[in-house]
Amino acid sequence: MATLIDGKAIAADVRAQAARRVQALKEKGVEPALAVILAGEDPASKVYVRNKARACKECGIRSEVIRLSGDISQDDLMAEIERVNRDDSLHGLLIQLPLPRHLDAEAALAAVDWRKDVDGFHRMNAGALLNGAPGVLPCTPAGCMELLRRSGVPLDGAQAVVVGRSNIVGKPMALLLMQANCTVTVCHSHTKNLADVVRRADVVVAAIGKPRFITADMVKEGAAVIDVGINRLPDGSLCGDVDFDAVSEKAGFITPVPGGVGPMTIAMLMMNTVQAAENHAC
Ligand code: NDP
Repeated sequence: MATLIDGKAIAADVRAQAARRVQALKEKGVEPALAVILAGEDPASKVYVRNKARACKECGIRSEVIRLSGDISQDDLMAEIERVNRDDSLHGLLIQLPLPRHLDAEAALAAVDWRKDVDGFHRMNAGALLNGAPGVLPCTPAGCMELLRRSGVPLDGAQAVVVGRSNIVGKPMALLLMQANCTVTVCHSHTKNLADVVRRADVVVAAIGKPRFITADMVKEGAAVIDVGINRLPDGSLCGDVDFDAVSEKAGFITPVPGGVGPMTIAMLMMNTVQAAENHAC
């Protein structure tokens, strides 16, 4: 039976660490602050933004949610981003995705001052990650690495398979695992014999967006399985990309959904915001 990686507990610990750094900043007269742009009425986005604001409060970070109408023009959105970029009292800026369809999300993300890019999506930060240079790491992959490290999963020389190649999860995840000296394979929708590839892995990261896609027969005995997926089932419940019940019989380590990667994403956002405020302060 796999060891359960308790994302909630680890995230609470990371948030407590962030709170201590916030306190140290406040003692120097700096109040870390995060701006979140929320355009439109997407219900899931509203929940995510609420959770982020709650985490900020818990860590002592001031948060400002900028609610924009769903039919805002690209020019007005860009003007709002520019306003936050120029505001020295705001250290981080996050644009909640997805933006309404008529808006150019790429242009919006590129317009964020990269020093305030607490999501790590700006090309400057993405480039830094590629080069192994200091920069802001995207929250979800950074959170997965923290889960693996804190759980004592051996990474040096391990075979790692990342399923999914998105810019926000799969690709940066693969780079971080490579930096940790894993031998990394990235799978996607064109991968042939995907089950055979995943079966070779000591570490599997599933970031696909398909409920229970990774089944027990695809997982090597003792592997560490990190489930990034968040899928809403017809009955309203949440499940990951991994068939949790069956895979946990076989894996060495596994993250649950909910309560695994999700809380870590927010905890790493807190850390990135604190880092941005510290960089601003010095
Ligand atoms: P994307 O839709 O951007 O990417 C999905 C990836 O999965 C693509 O690379 C796609 O391949 C690949 N894929 C799709 N179908 C298959 C298949 N049949 N076989 C192999 N690969 C396949 O998703 P994201 O990366 O943004 O998110 C992935 C999941 O993680 C989602 O469920 C999302 O909700 C969740 N998520 C969770 C977060 C958290 O905090 N826990 C944060 C961010 C995301 P291709 O490139 O070929 O199309």
